[in-house]
Amino acid sequence: MKMAEVQKRLSEGNSKFAESNTDYKSLVPSQHPNVAVIACSDSRVDPIITMSARLGEIFVPGRPIGEAIDDTTVAGVEYFVAHLGGESVIVAGHTGCGALTAALNLLNGKPPEEAALFRVVKGLSLNISPKDDLETAAWTNARAQAKELLRRSECVSGAVRQGRLDLGVMVYNLSTGRISDIELIKP
Ligand SMILES: [Zn+2]
Repeated sequence: MKMAEVQKRLSEGNSKFAESNTDYKSLVPSQHPNVAVIACSDSRVDPIITMSARLGEIFVPGRPIGEAIDDTTVAGVEYFVAHLGGESVIVAGHTGCGALTAALNLLNGKPPEEAALFRVVKGLSLNISPKDDLETAAWTNARAQAKELLRRSECVSGAVRQGRLDLGVMVYNLSTGRISDIELIKP
């Protein structure tokens, strides 16, 4: 879709939001989200939509492809924990992930050609095995990303060790529209 049409669609959508939803007014002074969710960039897995959350309920530190933890995402989680008093963080994988499909293809000899995509997909490929199906890969990768978050942040791992923060993983199923139960991850 070209930008002129995008502008039209987004403006229409935004008008509907601003006229029908007044939550944003009460959230101007501060935010107190219940949970932080790190999800994939995939347009089908937006946690705020899939979990029918309201504005201000879910803090989204990042939506990197394949939930590949990077510095920006870690910084967002640290802000959520240290400055917003966050007590729960979830890495949400999903079935049918394109990034994990690319990682499986890489393991089977077909790497992506684009440079940045290659670097991230290479990292994801270390968390899975070539024979994994996409649901298994979603779980093992989400667990590995949660561990990576712990490894990269003393703020996060310290809070989990002290019992101030729960870190968990879940998998959203594209076909059923359902999330799994949350599995807790310990340092
Ligand atoms: Zn994905």
